[in-house]
Amino acid sequence: MVKVRGLGEHPSLATGVKGRGVDFVVPEGPLFGLLERAALVHPERVCVDFLGRTTSYGEMWRQVEALAAWLLRHGFGSGQRVGICLPNCPQAVVAYYGILRAGGVVVNLSPLQTAEELAAQVADSGTKMVICPNLNKILPKVYPLLLGKKLKRLMVVNFAEALPWPQSWLFRVFKFKEISPVPAHEGLVWMEEVLAGRSKPREVKINPAKDLALLQFTGGTTGVPKAAMLTHRNLMANTEQVRIWLGETAPEGERFLTILPLFHVFAMTACMNLGIAVGATLVLVPAFQLSQLLGIIRRTKPTIFPAVPSLFGAIANHFAAHPAQVAASGMGGIRWCISGGAPLPADIKARFEKLSGCVIVEGYGLTEASPVVSCTPPMRQVAGSVGQPLPGTAIEIRDLKKPAKILGAGKTGEIVAKGPQVMQGYWGKPKETAKVLQKGWLRTGDVGHLDVQGFLHLTNRLKEIILVSGYNVYPRAIEEVVYRHPKVAEVTVIGVPDADKGERPKIFVAAKAGEVVSEAEILEFVKDKLNPLQRPVAVEVRASLPKTPMGKLDRKVLVAEERARRG
Ligand code: AMP
Repeated sequence: MVKVRGLGEHPSLATGVKGRGVDFVVPEGPLFGLLERAALVHPERVCVDFLGRTTSYGEMWRQVEALAAWLLRHGFGSGQRVGICLPNCPQAVVAYYGILRAGGVVVNLSPLQTAEELAAQVADSGTKMVICPNLNKILPKVYPLLLGKKLKRLMVVNFAEALPWPQSWLFRVFKFKEISPVPAHEGLVWMEEVLAGRSKPREVKINPAKDLALLQFTGGTTGVPKAAMLTHRNLMANTEQVRIWLGETAPEGERFLTILPLFHVFAMTACMNLGIAVGATLVLVPAFQLSQLLGIIRRTKPTIFPAVPSLFGAIANHFAAHPAQVAASGMGGIRWCISGGAPLPADIKARFEKLSGCVIVEGYGLTEASPVVSCTPPMRQVAGSVGQPLPGTAIEIRDLKKPAKILGAGKTGEIVAKGPQVMQGYWGKPKETAKVLQKGWLRTGDVGHLDVQGFLHLTNRLKEIILVSGYNVYPRAIEEVVYRHPKVAEVTVIGVPDADKGERPKIFVAAKAGEVVSEAEILEFVKDKLNPLQRPVAVEVRASLPKTPMGKLDRKVLVAEERARRG
């Protein structure tokens, strides 16, 4: 057992675990042990519910072993990188644990990327095999890599087969355009055929502290795409940290609503690994479509709901327009809504909680930390805070200009974090690694402060700060104000070049469904709520705002558009 001295107050006050100085122990063993153990303890329990089609823990582990046996037979064992480019579906879970069981390294590839981005990540990570579906939006981006010999193998998931009947039938009939033809190729194999195999994989030796489990691409703190190297132990630690935070779980099993994509590290840990560690049912949702999501919530009555703020905002707006639907919504059984990945505007939190009756707790983290660093203690929320460090995690605030200087409570600076969940570095990028990993401390690139009780408050990302006449202006502070406008659904604020002041804020907004909002209305609304430095140089109203594959509002797209427009 590897012990890490716990620092900070233990967040799980609800479970009565001891406070300051608690020792945190990272469970031993490889990450796939979570699923193996769950399959042993309750093989009949539903592991995955995919639009009503269920897979038990026992069957899930059998499929994982079948895949691992195939991977080992075909040379994709120890240390080999295997890409997963799938929307949420049972096969994504099989693929993840199967690759790990074979001793390989998962490379999470977002299916929403362009063919060029995918090709670059495949090349950068040295991935020789990818698992993807026969969907028109994805397969044509991956198949050329097989033809061009960049990949040795392509494993294809027959997506219609993954769906329950009659969805599968309807999908084939009405959405046949979404199914891509799959030309035969000697390097191509269908996942269904592999999973039908009955052979057992040989045992593989895993050193959890050294062996990589995952390469997770991120823009990171410097914007250049690179893959964070996360070991079995890193991911096991973070799963255990959030498990302790969650406290006791229902003996008959929780239901995790899994709409965030599993290829993103937040859902991978907070939905899949955590859910499987506590023997929960993962209710998988392949894509965001509000009415479908609400139908799934009604049917499955989830108990844990991790999501990003924009999703909670969309649900709040829907219930505001249809209050009669709340009573039978199925939201009543949700114990915790967990928001992460982006700032949760106070207005969205308040409206969602009032309308749905559910509490949103907030977590903070980043890919480089597997990802969770802090979380709101369930029983003790502090307004505007992202909670306290997880067990075994230390957080310090460093001076923005003199990074060696540690700042005291209430002082704003760069957040640095240390703990067993912190990555080994960036794959093949020692210089980038040295910029962010210093003496075991991870420079997060986020700005914030710790209050006297050790609660963390985020201000912004370093690189998002807008420099107006040399003064720091935080987009988040402006966004919080605009969110208070009753017609506004989404807000993103970026800095744009300004001849006089260097930079000035520009506000992008999208109105709620059925509402119309004008630039003049927004300008009038913010006039006496923002200080002169925060006042926008322009407001642009759009039908909707760009989002990342995870559903976070994506300021990078707006910054690039603005740059292109200005030439
Ligand atoms: P990624 O590595 O893509 O998951 O992005 C991590 C970044 O998302 C962090 O460095 C933060 O800037 C931001 N982030 C994560 N959680 C939160 C949160 N609760 N509030 C505000 N920003 C967050």
